Amino acid sequence: EELIKRLEATIENIPDFPIPGIQFKDISPIFLDPKLYEDVIGDLVKFSRGKVDAVCGIESRGYLFGIAVAVALDVPFILIRKKGKLPPPVISEKYDLEYGSAEIETREGQIKKGQKILIHDDLLATGGTTEAAAKLVQKQGADVVQFSFLIGLKDLNGEEKLRKFGADIYSILQY
Ligand code: 5GP
Repeated sequence: EELIKRLEATIENIPDFPIPGIQFKDISPIFLDPKLYEDVIGDLVKFSRGKVDAVCGIESRGYLFGIAVAVALDVPFILIRKKGKLPPPVISEKYDLEYGSAEIETREGQIKKGQKILIHDDLLATGGTTEAAAKLVQKQGADVVQFSFLIGLKDLNGEEKLRKFGADIYSILQY
């Protein structure tokens, strides 16, 4: 539809960034167009309205939209951060990267047992980051009921990795 066309015209494709062979999708031009930003938030809010008790956003581009979605839904927003950024006490989850591993964290006690959680990020690639985020949420006794993204990269099969959580998955744009 119309929003998809406007987003496609706005998101920039940067070849060979951050390494050769990768085509980077730069979402930053969205913030130059307040009306487009507002419509993106409206679309994400429509997907999640009445379905979730809290929103978890993944560092750092997941914050740019996730907070606005949570405020519009009138539910808490919880930061999922890379290891070492949040003060203790934290809950952590390790995951494998192409080379080596990484770890993400939330402040202990911010996610409540039994809450229905939306996990949001700007872009779904391999799904590794989002999968770790979902495990981190489950570890705290909450249910992941939705995932939302601005962009889903189809060829990398991220959605396959997320299917086991039984949650609804939404990407505004698919490439
Ligand atoms: P995944 O774990 O699904 O492989 O990678 C997704 C994570 O990498 C997201 O947090 C996302 O912000 C970041 N990412 C990977 N590729 C891109 C890209 O082309 N553009 C943007 N904006 N983020 C990317």
